[in-house]
Amino acid sequence: MVDDKIAWQAMENRDRSFDGKFVTGVLSTGIYCRPSCAARHPKRENVRFFAKPEQAEAAGLRACLRCLPNDVARDEGAVKLVIDAIRMAETAPKLNELAELTGYSPTHLQRIFKRDTGLSPAGYARALRSERVEDALAGGASVTEAIYDAGYGSASQFYEERKMGQRTGMNPNIWSNGGEGVTVHWATVETYLGTMLVAATEKGVCCLSFNEGET
Ligand SMILES: [Zn+2]
Repeated sequence: MVDDKIAWQAMENRDRSFDGKFVTGVLSTGIYCRPSCAARHPKRENVRFFAKPEQAEAAGLRACLRCLPNDVARDEGAVKLVIDAIRMAETAPKLNELAELTGYSPTHLQRIFKRDTGLSPAGYARALRSERVEDALAGGASVTEAIYDAGYGSASQFYEERKMGQRTGMNPNIWSNGGEGVTVHWATVETYLGTMLVAATEKGVCCLSFNEGET
């Protein structure tokens, strides 16, 4: 069992890495929570820590309906399953299909996936595709090859998703297993022939391509 001081700190920080390691019982409300529960924090004197949900229940507490402290292992399993399914798929699976796989409702799956990864399943699929393009480019593929091999239907779809990812602060490197320190920077440049994509690494410009999807 985690030390009480550390447990209190983890709870104050709503540190998700402690979910599953202990639960926080609130004697004044009769409820127990994950350390990361978003609910307002009770006074310290009303809190008791338990190593396992069963122990909190034996003490007469009920599971919080907001953070579902009983479901930590199941949620983690579902998120892993969805990540695998997205990584294996040729085209990004629909939220409904992913939900069916896990037995959760689409809304609930969306919520727990976002809570654990910071992205929706669709956002994750976009980040993954984008990362695959970067890997292929770093490996010497042409822009067109890289974009189509990663599963994009068109170059303009790739540019759109890139833009969307930048707006939402997506960081594909979070799940990059390597990357070898190669950073590819992108820019689109307006030319008299149309929109041109320029990709460059620290070593210089590596790719040029016209975005055939735009006029
Ligand atoms: Zn809770």
